Amino acid sequence: MKIAGMIKSSLIDFPGLVSCVLFVPGCNYNCFYCHNRSLIDGSYVITDPRMVIQFLEKRVGLLDGVVITGGEPTLRSGLMQYLAMIKAMGYKIKLDTNGSSPDVIKQILSEELCDYFAVDYKAPASRYKEICGNGANADVVLETIRLLQHHDIDFEVRTTVIPQLSEADLLTMAKELPLLNKYVLNRYRKPEKFIPSDIQRVSKTPYSSLELQHLASAIAHVQPNVKA
Ligand code: SF4
Repeated sequence: MKIAGMIKSSLIDFPGLVSCVLFVPGCNYNCFYCHNRSLIDGSYVITDPRMVIQFLEKRVGLLDGVVITGGEPTLRSGLMQYLAMIKAMGYKIKLDTNGSSPDVIKQILSEELCDYFAVDYKAPASRYKEICGNGANADVVLETIRLLQHHDIDFEVRTTVIPQLSEADLLTMAKELPLLNKYVLNRYRKPEKFIPSDIQRVSKTPYSSLELQHLASAIAHVQPNVKA
């Protein structure tokens, strides 16, 4: 298991809990607006995973949970053992995923290694590759989401509302998704690092908070549990 970075204490990454956030390198998608671009190729590793475990051992009772994010954590072969080690210390675990590995999620669910999942649904199915790169496939993401829904597990689906997504796109996405208990629309922020040829795409003016609220209202008849 490789760890690319760590936030020792966060109040915002795990709903209701004080958590440590671990960034796992490597991703099979290539979203043009990725905020962790240096993690995508998997070579950026700065933190010794044993040191992270030692840190978590010392923080038992002080932290509530651990967030595993990336990159895409489900690509890592040592993930199960690492989750099991963290779980054995008594921590709640949240996993952030792009939803591309339903088989890994199935295994995590069967071994009860996570308490909360956040899955990105990034675009209408027909635009997934345009926005997330050729490795992306919305059908597999929807399979992951349906899998979570069929288990008694807390999870959220979230969409970063990039300026390239229209109200019609969001409505299409709302209809493609099953009826969700938690659907979160997040504001887009321009990433610091991006592929130079994407300068125009990343520089488009983001929706304002008010516009985001309006978009949430526009899809609420399909996904009543949407929040912006
Ligand atoms: S799935 Fe996440 S980590 Fe991977 S490229 Fe997209 S935004 Fe970046």
